[in-house]
Amino acid sequence: MAGSLQGKRAFITGSLQGIGLGIATAFARQGADLVLHGLGDQALVDSAIATVKAAGAQKVEGYVTDLRDSTATEELVKKILEGGKVDILVNNAGIQHTATIENMPRQKWNDIIAVNLSSFFDTMRLLLPQMEKAGYGRVINIASVHGLVASLAKAPYVSAKHGVVGLTKVAALEYAKCGSRETGGVTVNAICPGWVETSLVEPQIQERVDKFGGDRAAGIADLLNEKEPSKRMTSPDDIGELALWLCSKSAHNITGAAIPIDGGWTAQ
Ligand code: NAD
Repeated sequence: MAGSLQGKRAFITGSLQGIGLGIATAFARQGADLVLHGLGDQALVDSAIATVKAAGAQKVEGYVTDLRDSTATEELVKKILEGGKVDILVNNAGIQHTATIENMPRQKWNDIIAVNLSSFFDTMRLLLPQMEKAGYGRVINIASVHGLVASLAKAPYVSAKHGVVGLTKVAALEYAKCGSRETGGVTVNAICPGWVETSLVEPQIQERVDKFGGDRAAGIADLLNEKEPSKRMTSPDDIGELALWLCSKSAHNITGAAIPIDGGWTAQ
């Protein structure tokens, strides 16, 4: 049986690992053609390509581009479009640095805003017009619970993620009239995860593991106890399944939403 994304092409930033690779794998299971991207060496690119091919993807490309550089991002998108249209854009690349405002290095502020917010603007401004023409398009921005609420020592991250939620709403309004129920329309939504065990949060996990004398399970439980009522981490695959559903035609009228997947974190 043909997968629900057969014939669709998805570009997922930061998809060589972590949440992005989870989303790419969920899309691969439904037959999507994939454009993978991230920072890393050829071995990481090859391993991500092998993962999604094993999950069912037929056509897969992999690119390494630093999204802090908007000219490089423009060149990347141009190259991707030479290979055909992009039906689904998942803005997922992101970085973190924790420090109080007075101790936050200025360069970290620049980098986090560039990757976690400005790169989302760049890919959207370059790819939304061709979605409008096609009458179908999906932009899924990976924000965070920190797009909805704040935490200590995360000023640039929280600022960028709140920015992503705002950017998502503006784009949703600008493209709301495109297409139809039959074509699926063009929607722009944000997913707002709580804790997911990836390299991005590893330094924060390590802090807690050290607090519990090297006991990883106790460190993770302590982290979850503080914020996440379900006391469970979300997996990259859980996020992939949510993203997949947002790509369906039946989700044509869900746009401008910021959807938490956070075990009740932001319900408190
Ligand atoms: P990760 O570190 O495993 O993946 C981040 C990806 O972004 C990597 O592929 C990396 O190469 C890419 N990236 C980083 N800097 C880049 C740059 N300058 N140019 C291009 N690509 C760059 O982390 P993850 O947890 O999978 O993060 C994915 C997204 O999920 C991020 O936007 C993050 O903010 C968000 N998020 C994560 C969590 C969590 O608990 N892990 C929670 C909420 C939101």
